[in-house]
Amino acid sequence: MSLRSLSKFRHTLAFRLTLWYAGIFTLSSCIAFLFFYFLITSVIRERTDQDLSEQAGRFTTLLSIGGMDEVKRLAVIEAQAAGERKIFFRLLSLRGEVFSSSNMSYWRDIGIERKAIQKLLQGSGVVFDTIALPERKHKVRILYGVIGSGVILQLGQSMENYTRFTEAFKRIFVATMAFLLILAALIGWFMARQALSGVGELTRTASHISSGGSLEERVPANPRGDEIALLATTFNQMLDRIQNLVMGIKEMSDNIAHDLKSPVTRIRGIAEVALTTETTLDEYKQMAASTIEECDRLLDMINTMLVISETEAGVGRRAQEKVDLAAVIRDACELFHPLAEDKGIILRCHAPGSFTLLGDTRLIQRMIANLLDNAIKYTSRDGRIDVTAQKEDEKSFAFSVKDTGIGISEKDLPHIFERFYRGDPSRPNTGNGLGLSLAQAIAHAQAGKIDVVSSPGQGSTFTITLPRSPYTPS
Ligand code: ADP
Repeated sequence: MSLRSLSKFRHTLAFRLTLWYAGIFTLSSCIAFLFFYFLITSVIRERTDQDLSEQAGRFTTLLSIGGMDEVKRLAVIEAQAAGERKIFFRLLSLRGEVFSSSNMSYWRDIGIERKAIQKLLQGSGVVFDTIALPERKHKVRILYGVIGSGVILQLGQSMENYTRFTEAFKRIFVATMAFLLILAALIGWFMARQALSGVGELTRTASHISSGGSLEERVPANPRGDEIALLATTFNQMLDRIQNLVMGIKEMSDNIAHDLKSPVTRIRGIAEVALTTETTLDEYKQMAASTIEECDRLLDMINTMLVISETEAGVGRRAQEKVDLAAVIRDACELFHPLAEDKGIILRCHAPGSFTLLGDTRLIQRMIANLLDNAIKYTSRDGRIDVTAQKEDEKSFAFSVKDTGIGISEKDLPHIFERFYRGDPSRPNTGNGLGLSLAQAIAHAQAGKIDVVSSPGQGSTFTITLPRSPYTPS
């Protein structure tokens, strides 16, 4: 592994998780071991002290029954029986002078602790002391106790068992800790890899897409249902949305290109005819008029697109004024009445009273006009259009434009609010496909909504619901 990849590896989350896991695991094992160590060593020490106290008790009894000679004899016999390198006895006067002892050739370097004698004289029953001599392997536990009047027993016992245990414990501790550390690192590494495997998939997919891969790629589904799986699902949903947006933008650009192409081609054709053919002044004027008409159509389309974009971008931020919606609807019906009459369509309007809301009058007028325009456009002679408006409640107002026209097919229905979407091209009078997009953008800008119900051949009903204030959506 090169130095660079090693330092990269050191900064990975998997490495840090492994380190944390191994650290915490090792620390808890250490604490458990130490607890166990102190428990066992204190039990061993207590047992040793108990043994020494029992011995001292026997000497006290023997002194009172058999006298000093019996005590001296017992000291020698006990030391020989237990092993003269394991235990020793000394009998001392109250001044700490030795007047009898077991074989002390092995214990020669062990003296008398003056402080212990003083404590005894001050009334302590027994005094314990532990001494460690540099040249000896094992420590020695010593008991000082008064066993009769003027007689002090110094009883020493090698702490061989204790030393053996602590040494064995240390060996086991080091070996076990080394094993546990390796095991913890392996388990930690495995767990971190397992936990982060989903993140790896996510990173791979994201970097593949960002380095030019297809937007259709998705992170493979993870059946575990954990947080990483949730992240992957959310990531996939985000990709779905981005893909839809990109496709929408692409579709829209295609539509714009297509819709701009026809009038520009027509304008070019007129100009070419004007250049290449001998034409009278009237014909020139006719051509100029056609060019203006095509340009107006283009400008209208571009302006509508701009208004849609502005309206969508300015949701909730437009200048607000008081608008009487009922009155605006009545005015619009009046305006469209002659047009409907010309087509032999009955246009009825029922928008009584007034409903004042905060909004942009011009945009609201445009939204209503688009619906009425469509209703007239897609309804044939002898048809009927009913415009009704009523309060939903104190806070919102709904109005609908119902026609008995050609209706909208199930296939078209989900798309009619998309920019440039036009229904079946064989239909009469289809426009540029921006009217309903604009109506929807305005309804949303007013914090309202637009719904449609339609059956082909029977007619359509568009319903717009608007709240009184665009800041408190209904
Ligand atoms: P257009 O300028 O083509 O009318 P719109 O955005 O206003 O564009 O409408 C989109 C499509 O929805 C229309 O092409 C038409 O197929 C359909 N549509 C809209 N309103 C009606 C209606 N009242 N009756 C039938 N079809 C309608």
